[in-house]
Amino acid sequence: MGGPGVIEENPLFTHTVAGPGEYFLKELLMGKKVPSFYRETKYPSYKFKLTDFLLNNLPGMNSDISLSIKTFDGCYWGKCYFCTYNSNYPCYFTEFNESRADIIAETMDSITSDIKKSVQNKEVTFYMSHASIGKEHLRILLNSIKKTDVIFRWVTFIRPEIWVMDFLKDIGECKGILDIGYEFLGEKDPVNKGISAEIAVNLSLKAYEHKIPLKANFLYCIPDTEEKDMIECAVNISRIRHTFTSFVLGQLFIEKETEFYRRSKDFRITCHDSVIDYALKDRHYIDHFEDYSGFRTLDNYDIFIENNKQFALSVAEIMETVVDTWEDPIDKEVKLHPISKEKIYKILSKYFGDKDYIRRYIEKVWGET
Ligand code: SF4
Repeated sequence: MGGPGVIEENPLFTHTVAGPGEYFLKELLMGKKVPSFYRETKYPSYKFKLTDFLLNNLPGMNSDISLSIKTFDGCYWGKCYFCTYNSNYPCYFTEFNESRADIIAETMDSITSDIKKSVQNKEVTFYMSHASIGKEHLRILLNSIKKTDVIFRWVTFIRPEIWVMDFLKDIGECKGILDIGYEFLGEKDPVNKGISAEIAVNLSLKAYEHKIPLKANFLYCIPDTEEKDMIECAVNISRIRHTFTSFVLGQLFIEKETEFYRRSKDFRITCHDSVIDYALKDRHYIDHFEDYSGFRTLDNYDIFIENNKQFALSVAEIMETVVDTWEDPIDKEVKLHPISKEKIYKILSKYFGDKDYIRRYIEKVWGET
């Protein structure tokens, strides 16, 4: 495991590299003895070519390939309160650029052919690192994939917007996988995602009909969420749980340069810089639920935490798993059947006190699915 975002050794991996990692990876694949953790400061002086990684030279490279390709970066939305994209990426990254899109499409095509020549019969997956792919970029991407004669899987982040419906058929035929930041699906939009729960739910159901794998990402411990909101989100997750191929529920971590941090007073939260700065001070994550989130609600912290614990436990039961840690309660591959309203009512009644609202909300939205 490696990359610029890595800051410390990860015991789950045999090797961890902080920094760019090209030289380290090459040494590793050449079969050289390398340390389990390495901080690489040297940036590659030239563009590494695929021929540097050919199978016959590199005994370590004998399994399926997953390739991360940096594509149209940035986000055309850029307004989610917890996200750093709005301030860290200037607007020119968020605008559509046809010639850049074409270059990337062509490059992807030639990389795929090279890989197929080197590693026959292996599944190749491109992980597009758009923060959130826009409509025009998706259109170019699909056209480019349709033109290529090699088959590969590809993954992209996408916002569950209504226009995505028009592309589902093509996405399915082009072996796409959608990585969706749902974040929170209730009547209100506490992270300013700009998408209604109903649209996200309907899109997921349609994607399922097209057999498109969905990687679903949700957040909890979001400021200004109460029991009712969590009931709504849990009900909506239940309605589409069978459409997910992987499911992540992670705790919101407030970072600097986000709206939550900048406008902490408006959100009635106190940000604790000592927690937020943990990475700079080379500290390890703190085990305690309360501290990891890096904030305290001013008025109702205890109720807030209790509700969120119940939320995580109920969602774990809905997803037929258990809570692993309070940091990321759920992070797993899933393959579930649709679930009935009655079963959901029973599960949620165990965790939340407002049974009347659980019943009313289920009746309100379930029929619309
Ligand atoms: S859609 Fe995704 S990348 Fe864009 S602002 Fe929201 S969280 Fe950030």
